[in-house]
Amino acid sequence: MKETKYIFVTGGVCSSLGKGIVASSTAAILKSAGLKVAIMKLDPYLNVDPGTMSPFQHGEVFVLDDGAETDLDLGHYERFIDTPLSKFCSITTGKVYSEVLAEEREGKYLGGTIQIVPHITNKIQQKVELAARKMKADVMVVEIGGTVGDIEGEPFLEVLRQMKKKHKDNLISMHLTLLPYLAASKELKTKPTQISVRTLRAAGISPEFIFARSDVKIPRKILKKIAFFCDVDEDCVIPSETVSSIYEVPLRYEKFGLGETLAKKLNLGDLKFDLAEWEAGVDKIKRTKSEVVIGLAGKYNDLDDAYLSVIEAVKSAGYFHGKKAVIEWIDTEKIGNDDPEERAKLEKVAGIIVPGGFGNRGIEGKIKVAEFCRTTGKPYLGLCLGSQIMAIEFARNVLGIKKATSEEFDIDENDIEAGYINGKKYHVIHFMEDQNIHRKKGGTMRLGLYPCVIKAGTKAREIYGTDRIEERHRHRFEFNNKFREKFEENGFIISGQSPNKNLVEIVEIKDHPFMIASQFHPELISRPFRPHPLFREFMAASLK
Ligand code: GLN
Repeated sequence: MKETKYIFVTGGVCSSLGKGIVASSTAAILKSAGLKVAIMKLDPYLNVDPGTMSPFQHGEVFVLDDGAETDLDLGHYERFIDTPLSKFCSITTGKVYSEVLAEEREGKYLGGTIQIVPHITNKIQQKVELAARKMKADVMVVEIGGTVGDIEGEPFLEVLRQMKKKHKDNLISMHLTLLPYLAASKELKTKPTQISVRTLRAAGISPEFIFARSDVKIPRKILKKIAFFCDVDEDCVIPSETVSSIYEVPLRYEKFGLGETLAKKLNLGDLKFDLAEWEAGVDKIKRTKSEVVIGLAGKYNDLDDAYLSVIEAVKSAGYFHGKKAVIEWIDTEKIGNDDPEERAKLEKVAGIIVPGGFGNRGIEGKIKVAEFCRTTGKPYLGLCLGSQIMAIEFARNVLGIKKATSEEFDIDENDIEAGYINGKKYHVIHFMEDQNIHRKKGGTMRLGLYPCVIKAGTKAREIYGTDRIEERHRHRFEFNNKFREKFEENGFIISGQSPNKNLVEIVEIKDHPFMIASQFHPELISRPFRPHPLFREFMAASLK
């Protein structure tokens, strides 16, 4: 394609309507016709990136191959379009401002007055175009975070207005709104949608598409009404009714002819959309009735968003084996206090995952969970922190190092930030002295894709079917190599390590049905219809 096409997605009326799913589904449909599609997120908040935001407020931090710490929507994007994205695909107001202000300090603006328009908006525009170039996208889908009308979002809408002028027929915008249902009068109301579109108009934007979100079926006449009042073509009002699986959304849109309408509007030429893989996948999801219960022993209980990728990977693994995976949240603080009801859950679930995490809340409980799994043969999958927990438990209860722990739980966060290395004898997990030679980026976190070599004859080797893999990381602490021999002599297998053999990457317990953990985050590269091998085999073991 000669020129890049842009599709902007905005949201109105209220948040949480699923703009990310609209963006992802649209991109998936276009990708199915063989186009090179990428998706990016413009987040209006002032944090420079979501790396430091609490999962309580913001859900999981999604890490990309290049180590960028991004919004969880990037996870949806990658799962829907099955394409690794890059740091260029995640922009926040904070990032834009910090760059513009740094340039101002360097004198790059030659004494000029720095303003939101044009300096901030130009910077955003450059970043959008740069992302499209870097991703070599035929179509760049751009999601603007927040809700139309938010003060923070205004510069982004102005960018959309300016880019529409510049890219003309190569840019369209989609607006997602909510149709509230009034039970008393049995009506879906379109007024909030009309007002939201009016707000967009005031910003100089007339959306080409309206996606109408509703929990009930939307009658044809309502769609027509929206088309008329919001001045869009009738085939451009797309019903977005709540479905049981988000992966059904692209199929719904395509049934409504979205691909073809887009091809027309954006002059994409003659395209053939093939969603056969989606149909098969969704069909399997819908046919699956029988359940398997998987325990999740994390820190943020009942907070699906904090473990979004883990839950998606578990579900995908479940469907792969014809089971609907149900998550049982295990409260590790209660387990730490030997709460009998909570402990009973450990027996009940088919397998247990100890996911990633930071800080020492619930750590003793997690160690008890690992002990339970090791001694009873219950399948255990450890993700990042879950691998460190597995080592600590083994050190305490098999090697007899009673005080074994991780340096993370033993010293002050501030000391870690300051690069202080404590190095107590019982730190089986520690902060490496020469840690920075193992980090691509600055800072103490190991972020993004790193290679791992898998040892022959191990379970990991069997699961992966290869001896060299690359996986995404986000952690600070490492297995302490001083303990290697002692661990290995006693049945703790180090089945994966960095090519220079310095960093432990995968561990497993000898002769256990399935007790495996990784220092990396396999959930980040799992796909809805192609579960990550570790999750797939963890599920297989849990179903035995
Ligand atoms: N807190 C641990 C570390 O920094 C584990 C991090 C994680 O689970 N992502 O190494």
